[in-house]
Amino acid sequence: MSFKSLGLAPYILKSIANQDYKQPTVIQEKAIPVILQGKDVLGIAPTGSGKTAAYALPIIQSLDGHTTTKNRHINVLVLVPTRELAIQVEEVFRSFSQELPFRFKSMAVHGGVSINPQMMGMQHLNVLVATPGRLLELKESNAVHFSQLSTLVLDEADKMLNLGFKKEMDQIFALLPSKRQNLLFSATLSPEVDAIKGFLLQNPVVVKV
Ligand code: AMP
Repeated sequence: MSFKSLGLAPYILKSIANQDYKQPTVIQEKAIPVILQGKDVLGIAPTGSGKTAAYALPIIQSLDGHTTTKNRHINVLVLVPTRELAIQVEEVFRSFSQELPFRFKSMAVHGGVSINPQMMGMQHLNVLVATPGRLLELKESNAVHFSQLSTLVLDEADKMLNLGFKKEMDQIFALLPSKRQNLLFSATLSPEVDAIKGFLLQNPVVVKV
């Protein structure tokens, strides 16, 4: 199986080649085509499986033809449990956006650092990678708006729930437009993740590796 056969555009294939990825991992092979079709996905995949690129690649491609986001608006929200993962995931988006024929901007926001530079950075973003607490702080400061949001990703959902972010997650879900694509990734299908799946995902394709 090649990346090309998954339906990815030439400009994405070029940045994949730049990263020296020779062929897709199993989660990428299974998830990329369905994400490109706009379906909701539940991906049960551990760290190390290539899950980040499995959603980042089709998401970047799906932004082709999008109009520029308004100031403080975003197209895609990726919720992650930790600051380290926020930084790492944003770097993956950035690394695959070098060859794009359209404008693309991403940013990571997380606690433990000053909020001001993050507020200043909320300028015409496409992808915001955020930890739940800091995202809510930004919302309270009126620094982020969700009416142009089309995709929500929860990465390491099991860890996010284990860390006690359920309340923050529910608060965030209530702020989002109801018409959107939802991608839920988790290392395990715990009862808590299963409950979120039922609540959040519409007719999801389940991809397990
Ligand atoms: P992840 O599971 O997203 O944390 O990715 C684990 C590691 O695998 C990262 O260092 C990626 O750069 C790498 N990786 C992801 N997809 C591929 C691929 N198709 N070929 C080679 N390496 C990959």
